[in-house]
Amino acid sequence: PTALPKAPAHPRWVRVNTLKTTLDEQLSSTFAGYEETKHLSVIMSARSSSKTYFIDPNIPNLLAFPPKIELSKSTAYVGGQIIFQDKASCFPAYLLDVGAEIGDIIDGCAAPGNKTTQLAAIVSAAPTKAPRHVIAFERDKARASTLEKMVNLASADNVVTIKGGQDFLAAQPGSEEYSKTQAILLDPSCSGSGIVGRDDTIEIQLPTAPESIKPNSKGSASKKRKRTDVKSSHPEESTTLKLEVDNLPHEESPEDNNTSDRLTALSTFQLRILTHAMRFPQARRITYSTCSIHCEENESVVLQALQSTIAKERGWAILKREQQVTGLRDWQHRGIWDDGKLGLEAKTRDHAKEEILDACIRCEKGTDAGTMGFFVAAFTRHGPEAVEQN
Ligand code: SAM
Repeated sequence: PTALPKAPAHPRWVRVNTLKTTLDEQLSSTFAGYEETKHLSVIMSARSSSKTYFIDPNIPNLLAFPPKIELSKSTAYVGGQIIFQDKASCFPAYLLDVGAEIGDIIDGCAAPGNKTTQLAAIVSAAPTKAPRHVIAFERDKARASTLEKMVNLASADNVVTIKGGQDFLAAQPGSEEYSKTQAILLDPSCSGSGIVGRDDTIEIQLPTAPESIKPNSKGSASKKRKRTDVKSSHPEESTTLKLEVDNLPHEESPEDNNTSDRLTALSTFQLRILTHAMRFPQARRITYSTCSIHCEENESVVLQALQSTIAKERGWAILKREQQVTGLRDWQHRGIWDDGKLGLEAKTRDHAKEEILDACIRCEKGTDAGTMGFFVAAFTRHGPEAVEQN
């Protein structure tokens, strides 16, 4: 029998950081001599480090390279001009669609800062009369320090205000500080069941010097693993580290640890954080995302949030597919229905729920789309308190 290839053909996704450079500039400098392919399948079948790139049609400024391409020592990566970020992980900030009519934006669960820096780049590309800010919460102090490094490296520090060691759930929605907050990106802790590994290891790519990560006191993983040099295609990493697999920068744990109790605990927290975001009086848009494949953490949370008292009081609705930015409206893989996992009131399937599921965006791992497993949905409202800025 033919041996299965060791590494999955998962592309190396690279987001060009437009705070520092442009796509054209990178194609003619860092990637000079590389050949463009119009087919992602070419990238995914290129097991060597062949100099080929693919320009993503869904997300602006995103490139794919063959899985084994070595870019982590390039000047552009070390200098924060390019950022390793899985395609799916780029969806939430883009879906939030923060054009010039939107004021401040909160990133409620920010470290290590891939989506924060992406938001900062989007905000800077659409300047407003009054400067606007990305307010980034990260409750874990060690992770907040990584976030700060990434924000500085990406030159996003003049747009991003970091709330290091601060719990988004403790932020007072009615306070003056958030009176201009009109959009909220929520990418909370999840089971990590959609994460794609390379060579069965976890790769932590880092442009900065190694740093230590404090031990995970919660001990989410079921087995202790030895300290090791680890490799993965985890999109949320951004610094080079030697660390214990138990203490990954993203709080994932092995799939076999995703017991029903754990998923219930995670989804309870996820629903809580999402309904908290719905309380911000000027908020008009929210995205909710996970790198989980489980309905309990995804469609079920969305449906329950829409049925919550706060959503009804404030007039929150799902951002329908036809209202979404073009690149994501056209994405074919949508929310899924899994009977018994969609929350108590969700068991009857009707037209409204079909529309909600169609508004949800899913990415499946191990397909020809070359993404990790991911989920994102957006909410919108035109409530009485929502006012135009600028
Ligand atoms: N959005 C990040 C990115 O793209 O780089 C990844 C976020 S990771 C999935 C979730 C993060 O949220 C973790 O760093 C975790 O410590 C943080 N977090 C979880 N609950 C939080 C809360 N209540 N307030 C602030 N941060 C929280």
